[in-house]
Amino acid sequence: MQTPQKIAVVGSGLVGTLLAIYLKKAGHTVHVYDRSPDIRNIQFSGRSINLVMSDRGWKTLSDIGLDDEIRAIGIPVDKRGIHMQDGSYITQNYGKEGEAIFSLSRGILNRKMIDLAEKEGVEFFFNQKIWDVTLTDASLHVGETERGEWTEIKFDKVFGADGAFSRIRHRMQRQSMFDYSQEFMKIGYKELHIPANPDGSHKIDKNSLHIWPRGNFMLMGLSNLDGSFTCTLFMPFEGENSFEQLKDEAHLVAFFAKYFPDTKEVIPDLVVDFFKNPTSYLVKMKCYPWTFEDKLALIGDAAHAIVPFYGQGMNAGFEDITVLSELMQEYGDDWSRIFSEYQKSRKPNADAIAELAERNFIEMSAKTADENFLLQKKIEKWFSDKHPDKWMPLYSRVTFSLQPYAEALAVGDYQNEIMQEVLKMDNIQEIWNSDLVEQKIIALLQ
Ligand SMILES: Cc1cc2nc3c(=O)[nH]c(=O)nc-3n(C[C@H](O)[C@H](O)[C@H](O)COP(=O)(O)OP(=O)(O)OC[C@H]3O[C@@H](n4cnc5c(N)ncnc54)[C@H](O)[C@@H]3O)c2cc1C
Repeated sequence: MQTPQKIAVVGSGLVGTLLAIYLKKAGHTVHVYDRSPDIRNIQFSGRSINLVMSDRGWKTLSDIGLDDEIRAIGIPVDKRGIHMQDGSYITQNYGKEGEAIFSLSRGILNRKMIDLAEKEGVEFFFNQKIWDVTLTDASLHVGETERGEWTEIKFDKVFGADGAFSRIRHRMQRQSMFDYSQEFMKIGYKELHIPANPDGSHKIDKNSLHIWPRGNFMLMGLSNLDGSFTCTLFMPFEGENSFEQLKDEAHLVAFFAKYFPDTKEVIPDLVVDFFKNPTSYLVKMKCYPWTFEDKLALIGDAAHAIVPFYGQGMNAGFEDITVLSELMQEYGDDWSRIFSEYQKSRKPNADAIAELAERNFIEMSAKTADENFLLQKKIEKWFSDKHPDKWMPLYSRVTFSLQPYAEALAVGDYQNEIMQEVLKMDNIQEIWNSDLVEQKIIALLQ
């Protein structure tokens, strides 16, 4: 048990809110500040981005008994539904029978978590912009504008859960020996919408993550509880097949007719949505250290912002909380130790999932339409069903296991080398599930 402290969490996003619940349960007084209004009072159509939750996220929720309430607002997704350009449609299971990721609306999830945090006794302060933090005494500087008057509020500890463009990190950046890098991706995204059928049912299979892979761009769709789908078009800002080329209705309609003909029936408001919705940027950010003495720690996107292609950003942020909580139990009031072990343990794993997420864009947008890749996945699944003790595919390691991301990346690279050898075997298309292939993999594993 720790000595109760007065702790500020900056950011009422998914990670900040869940962290606040953990800290409150550990006996601390917890104040959460957010520059935005209370999301529960904002009207949204339910069309907001959805996210997928997988095992790491579920663990953090289930450790404090919140998983069932959250599962109730999600939809299980157990496979990819791949819409090929020639009109064919293939499915690819994500894991073993019964394994699924969950599609959740970010807005609905965030609202629910704030409700749960308030029920626990966490206090929220919305419309409160944090402009700065004094690291040495954990005091926050709150005010209307950057150049206006600020109020100083003193805490025992501050957690920066204020996202990829964290103000708290901004102060850390001015310390010597603080490493920082940020890169905007050349790929942006835009949301589109598949409405529900008149009877409220889904127009396409709700338990699949739909992908239309087209090389350097792709469309994907995830189901919502109201029968609709949120689709996201990921493509380069400039060049061939890019946002810059889709400058008017004629270009847009021709582009969709050429590359996504089967969406004509299901995305009726394509033109309106496309020109109304913003084209958003993707940013990746790395930094270190994540903590300052026993006073301050960064968590979630404030510490590691990654591209969304593995569906792991929030899951990784939740896993930060699991690790922090375990260290709090282990080291009690020794917060310097807790913070130093936390960053040492998480940094290599955050770097690994950043790498995996970036690679996954190529997997989703190009490889899922590639015959060799599909064969590789088929062989891996077949072999791992036969020898679960010898082979767990990389996707399962990341999504359906708690193996540290860095280990998953290393083992995944090793398994990929083996599979490249297997794919070179004569007639592999015909003999992919033969004894010969099984023995070859076993030999290579040794
Ligand atoms: C298109 C897309 C799809 C994604 N899909 C997935 C997915 O399927 N699965 C997954 O796990 N992850 C996914 N992610 C990543 C996920 O959204 C993030 O990792 C996660 O939301 C990070 O949560 P956070 O609480 O750390 O930060 P945020 O959600 O960014 O919250 C930060 C909060 O801090 C507040 N704030 C910021 N600055 C200040 C300030 N100065 N003062 C006070 N408050 C401040 C903000 O208002 C905000 O409420 C996706 C991301 C994108 C962009």
